[in-house]
Amino acid sequence: MPELERQVAHPGLYRASGEQPALIGQHCTGCGHLAFPPNPYGCEACGAQPEALEKRELAGAGELAAFATVHLHMGGGIEAPFTVGVIVLDDGPAVRATLTCPTDDGLAIGDRVSSVLVSQGSDDEGTETVELRFIPHSSGSAEDSRVRGEA
Ligand SMILES: [Zn+2]
Repeated sequence: MPELERQVAHPGLYRASGEQPALIGQHCTGCGHLAFPPNPYGCEACGAQPEALEKRELAGAGELAAFATVHLHMGGGIEAPFTVGVIVLDDGPAVRATLTCPTDDGLAIGDRVSSVLVSQGSDDEGTETVELRFIPHSSGSAEDSRVRGEA
């Protein structure tokens, strides 16, 4: 079987390299502000011109600040239920992202989460598309929620 090529679904936002994929953020050389996602307009903190901004990789790890399970979803690409969260990255910016767990059972504000790449399938040429998700750190949380669900 030929080895699969991998491509990320949103190459402007994150990289597929490494165990824990990095998010592509923006660093302001004027005031030091870190932003995500990168924007072409200038610094959102100090108003510096776009020339003052440089891309910087942000570690794909942080804390869960909010979350919700989507039960009804009219768009394509993902099947409900799925859980979305706001994650405050260790590097500062808050990002909205989909979590690997279908429901929010067992999740709590402040939980550690980290980035992970999830396969979205592959095309006829064998190119696999991967999407960035966040996975709860405490590997026991899925177990815990299953136990709670049965009780
Ligand atoms: Zn700035």
